[in-house]
Amino acid sequence: MPQRSARGAQAPLKILLLAAEVVPFAKTGGLADVTGSLPKAIRALGHDIRVGMPRYGRIRPDQFNLTRILEPFPVPMDDRTEPAELMQATLDGEVPVYLVENARYFDRDGIYMYPDDAERFIMFCRGVLEGVKRLGWQPDIIHCHDWHTALVPNWLKTIYADDPFFADTASVYTIHNLAYQGIFGHRVLEIAGIDEYGFIVHPDIMDLNEVVDFMARGIAFADVISTVSETYAREILTSEFGEKLDPLLRDRRDRLFGILNGIDVDEFNPATDRYLEVNYTLESLDLRVENKLSLQREAGLREDRRIPVVGIIARLTDQKGFDLITNIVEPMLQHLGAQFVVLGTGEQRYHDFFTDLTNRYAGQAGAFLTFNASLARRIYAGADVFLMPSRFEPCGLGQMIAMRYGSVPVVRAVGGLADTVRDYDPATGEGTGFVFKPYDAMALYTTLVRAVETYRYPDIWRKLQTRCMQQDFSWQASARKYVELYARAREFHARDRAAAQEKEAKDRAANRTQKGE
Ligand code: ADP
Repeated sequence: MPQRSARGAQAPLKILLLAAEVVPFAKTGGLADVTGSLPKAIRALGHDIRVGMPRYGRIRPDQFNLTRILEPFPVPMDDRTEPAELMQATLDGEVPVYLVENARYFDRDGIYMYPDDAERFIMFCRGVLEGVKRLGWQPDIIHCHDWHTALVPNWLKTIYADDPFFADTASVYTIHNLAYQGIFGHRVLEIAGIDEYGFIVHPDIMDLNEVVDFMARGIAFADVISTVSETYAREILTSEFGEKLDPLLRDRRDRLFGILNGIDVDEFNPATDRYLEVNYTLESLDLRVENKLSLQREAGLREDRRIPVVGIIARLTDQKGFDLITNIVEPMLQHLGAQFVVLGTGEQRYHDFFTDLTNRYAGQAGAFLTFNASLARRIYAGADVFLMPSRFEPCGLGQMIAMRYGSVPVVRAVGGLADTVRDYDPATGEGTGFVFKPYDAMALYTTLVRAVETYRYPDIWRKLQTRCMQQDFSWQASARKYVELYARAREFHARDRAAAQEKEAKDRAANRTQKGE
């Protein structure tokens, strides 16, 4: 059982959180938002949480006040060692962040999509583990996020299993998106030092015998697995959402939990957001329209406060429902009299589609096919409706940020979208957005019709916006759930370890009997 202090609260835990991207150091998507804000909320609960990530070339030492805390030390890689250094920064001056430095692997322009990504993330993870050992900082929990860090639970049960330093360290593996598994060839096992243990085998997942699937290893070996909403935790047990790993997830369902992501409500706050034209609160919601007019100018749309602006900010991939959007956007512009603005990067065919759309609907449709965090804020604050018709959505942050800024979401009832948006019911006036279920362009279109129709009634719309802005998406509740999860992981870890030791003792005794000792 976890220890309790006199106040009844849990004794402070030492937690090492590992991720490939962390706001404000490096971000490509929601993962970085989570790993940048969850640690602060856990720290606020009194725990000693520290973060580990690679020191990519783009993370400039002067910009983030990096200090070197470990001189070059050897990290085992394959049959050689690779030198790493440990740099330190902080999240808001509160949470220590350890950045693993190695020019060969990390001093590049980008974060991902290199042919040696497997090696790069092995180097990062092994570098942090070896680094904290040198620092003498012994974590109770290592909390790994997504495939880049998924070998850590595997290592703790193999090459570090007999290392007293990590004997009491439990692992938690959080799945942010099951679709990105990190699948590589056999060589990776040698690089990671686990080739003697071979492939993992599962009778219902044939491919696992032939490839190294990082995600699968995180799921197979972690003491506890979590994902980022309760609905997604249930969905991934099915073949529809399980991305071929559902049999493994079903085996481990007693260790699988769903905890909804929060958002950093200080960072995403329309009252203080410095990127907005005008700041506003629930009490001064009338001011919000200035942001809409300014967005219309910025996006080259006709400036008109009465025209509903439908916005979307997302990676331009099928996951986010862009195949549906490309089907309905023209009818929406032609028949619903709405304006449309998109911010995103991704698949070329969507870049081409939106470039062509904005040429043909100048003044009515705007597209920013780039990554721009400040423009994202202006869209959240300026759009009337925020679109998120995802095919699947582990949690989704966009809809929560949109609601906080008073943009009413239109979403598909899937994953975290189902857990955060309630469909508006005109009979009772209840709800926080517009929700549809089947993955189908017509269902999205009719839901947009409902949204735009409701927009024509300013009093009703205002109530809807108000309810959206009143939702509590802060990390507080979820951070407590993670702390409970950590306690659970420690219990499982202690239990599994005791069982393994008992088995070992029995095997030894049986061996002795056999030998007639
Ligand atoms: P995912 O992690 O699947 O990409 P989420 O909704 O969980 O989706 O998180 C996406 C985050 O990234 C949100 O904070 C969103 O505002 C931001 N984002 C996505 N695309 C862009 C972009 N092109 N420019 C700026 N921010 C973006």
